[in-house]
Amino acid sequence: MASAGLSYVPNNPNSPWQMYLLQVDRVAPHLGHLERWVETLKRCKRVLAVDIPINRDDGTVAHFEGFRAQHNMSRGPGKGGVRFHPDVTIDEVMALAGWMTVKNAALNLPYGGAKGGIRVDPKTLTRPELERLTRRYTSEIGLIIGPDKDIPAPDVNTNDQIMAWMMDTYSMNTGATATGVVTGKPIALGGSLGRKEATGRGVYIAARETARAMGFDIAGARIVVQGFGNVGGIAARLFKAAGASVIGLQDASGSVANEAGIDVDAALDFVAAGGALVDFKGVTKISEGEFWALKSDIFVPAALENQLTETRARSIATKLVVEGANGPTTPAADDILHDRGIKVVPDVIANAGGVTVSYFEWVQDFSSFFWTESEINDRLERIMVEALKAVVHTAEKNNVSLRTAAFIIACTRVLAARELRGLYP
Ligand code: NAD
Repeated sequence: MASAGLSYVPNNPNSPWQMYLLQVDRVAPHLGHLERWVETLKRCKRVLAVDIPINRDDGTVAHFEGFRAQHNMSRGPGKGGVRFHPDVTIDEVMALAGWMTVKNAALNLPYGGAKGGIRVDPKTLTRPELERLTRRYTSEIGLIIGPDKDIPAPDVNTNDQIMAWMMDTYSMNTGATATGVVTGKPIALGGSLGRKEATGRGVYIAARETARAMGFDIAGARIVVQGFGNVGGIAARLFKAAGASVIGLQDASGSVANEAGIDVDAALDFVAAGGALVDFKGVTKISEGEFWALKSDIFVPAALENQLTETRARSIATKLVVEGANGPTTPAADDILHDRGIKVVPDVIANAGGVTVSYFEWVQDFSSFFWTESEINDRLERIMVEALKAVVHTAEKNNVSLRTAAFIIACTRVLAARELRGLYP
């Protein structure tokens, strides 16, 4: 699996990297003279695969596989999360890094795109084992990360504690406390107010603005959310607070519904206390098929990639899809949704709230001057609304989907930087 070269083109048409390549192909004809640089976007600048041996609590040694992919650094240091999940592959990490290049450029943040991951089910590790795994991984990728090189952040199954261990390990290895090496840290270690909620808040803002443009309000809207973690959970909470009815939820434990609206805050408390969403009182457990058939105004996929497949795109009963997750919709499903008149706010805009506040965190760490939460949320709101407006304008001008429009804006910025820098040597 990990033997592929850096221009790795897998045979599996549903591989995330293949999906990303197809999306780049769609944007190429819109890049004008910059199209001659498009190959730059079809490969990663650098991919590091590392062995992570750790001592288990029972005295045995276990080995895990980890990656850090740096897709493009034309506009600045790499930026992107770290995922701990049993399905992590080099293919997935490369695609997620490519999407980070596009996302950072679409929001005009001064970053390139990167992503990392460890192929592990963290639930099978004790806390000391998880700490040893995180520290050894950080040491191994320490060759290529740093506050001005590549700055990791939380993603699926990673959180502020893991970022604290990463920051400490990098700092111990380099001999100086380097708060800016990761974002999404605890507030006490240079983290930013509002970072934890930022991705979900950005999803909410993107949904609210697009719904308004489509002629309906969030208040009273019916919402279905797949994934009830950092992104989906916060987004669901904000939808509910704005007067929407969250009528369906799904996480790794299963799917639940309540036509009258789910008490999202109580469900979040229940899950945070260790309960399984399907055991939460006040909801009915439903099947996977029933979940995807729920009638809604807005559907938010906020779990993993490849969830909105062709079959599901044919049957999904919604007006608007707002992608909280990265790569949840396959290109074939995208076409079906387009033909059915279902609007899609793509991941590279919809879930960009997290990296935007990560950028604020990094700037605050560099200047050692910290902003208030309302300053952060106001700036986030402004950046998200402006980026979304630009994408809608480009989509209308070129008669393309919002995804292709976001790619046009982002890839033009990346390739213009590429051209100006020229080729070394
Ligand atoms: P998380 O680990 O906090 O939550 C993931 C959620 O998805 C959990 O509720 C889990 O139970 C659920 N899930 C996992 N497998 C599932 C399955 N097969 N079916 C249904 N649900 C499943 O992760 P997160 O940080 O919320 O990330 C979710 C998505 O958002 C990922 O695609 C991630 O890349 C993307 N994202 C996250 C951030 C961030 O700041 N955390 C930023 C941008 C994008």
